[in-house]
Amino acid sequence: MDERYSRQQKFKPIGQHGQRLLEKATVAVIGCGALGSAIAEMLVRAGIGHLHLVDRDVVEISNLQRQQLFCERQARETMPKVVAAEQRLREIRSDVQLTITIDHADGTHIEHLARQCDLLMDATDNFETRIMINDAAYKYRRPWVYGACVGSTGVVFPFVPGSSACLRCLLPSLPAVNETCDMAGIIGSAVQMTAALQCTEALKWLTGNKDALIRKVHHFDLWSHTRIDSGLTRIKRLNCPTCGDSPTFESLSPIRKTQIEMLCGQNTVQVIPGNSRTIDFDEAERTGRLANISVRRTPYFVEMHIKEYRMILFSNGRLLIHGLNDVHQGRKLYHQLFG
Ligand SMILES: [Zn+2]
Repeated sequence: MDERYSRQQKFKPIGQHGQRLLEKATVAVIGCGALGSAIAEMLVRAGIGHLHLVDRDVVEISNLQRQQLFCERQARETMPKVVAAEQRLREIRSDVQLTITIDHADGTHIEHLARQCDLLMDATDNFETRIMINDAAYKYRRPWVYGACVGSTGVVFPFVPGSSACLRCLLPSLPAVNETCDMAGIIGSAVQMTAALQCTEALKWLTGNKDALIRKVHHFDLWSHTRIDSGLTRIKRLNCPTCGDSPTFESLSPIRKTQIEMLCGQNTVQVIPGNSRTIDFDEAERTGRLANISVRRTPYFVEMHIKEYRMILFSNGRLLIHGLNDVHQGRKLYHQLFG
């Protein structure tokens, strides 16, 4: 028995056979904030063979309260979250195979992940990305584990194509107001609980314990110490565009329009240009200096300080504007910079 995993293998439902299956498994963690950090660490420690990590953002000081893979130095260096995560995960386990992507997870990328991976873990903070994960998962018949948390509460459910209704079917029974951690805040223990429940479902699926998967949507509130499980059997829609009779997987079609949006919990506006453009960092640096703008260049992006805003420009033209919570102002700034 492998000493490293001896305690996990003694757990009967996993055993040595389950451990071998984990070592062969490839899992995608979509989002590397609070949930993504906790999930990635748990899966890497459990012995998952290959982990794909994707995230669009950089480490900030306000992340450290709950995003367990990151430290002060990485926040000072505004390191991309997946790069920071990779450093820590390799310290924890040197033989893990990691594939990191510093970008917004769009439909094309999520489809790629669904093709490559045995399982998709939702660690996002927004509805649009979850709908894309849902579409890609059902298109390629891969299970995905939904997880969301805010305040002291969380919701978890494993979606299994062919045996459960999908997220679109479930939407009418989810809370109508999607509170974000911007508005309601969040405690670290709610993150840990959500991630623990998600990872447990992942371990069940990957070790062949499919019958043990939870079949109801699990809601909990740690503060009031309450939990509710709601059933799913009657909510599957026959005409659902994802899991119905003639699915269209509409969220996966490429978008050509420039997208401008607020990122959850961060006082940050993100701009994704409709036609992807390649940014030459040398030129960006030169232009910045000519315009008397303070510019810092890293291997991953160019950072510029304009007025009170910190702008982070990636090589595919994606721009993050930190210190701004107004989408219209973000659009204006972007057009001032790039026409
Ligand atoms: Zn459905």
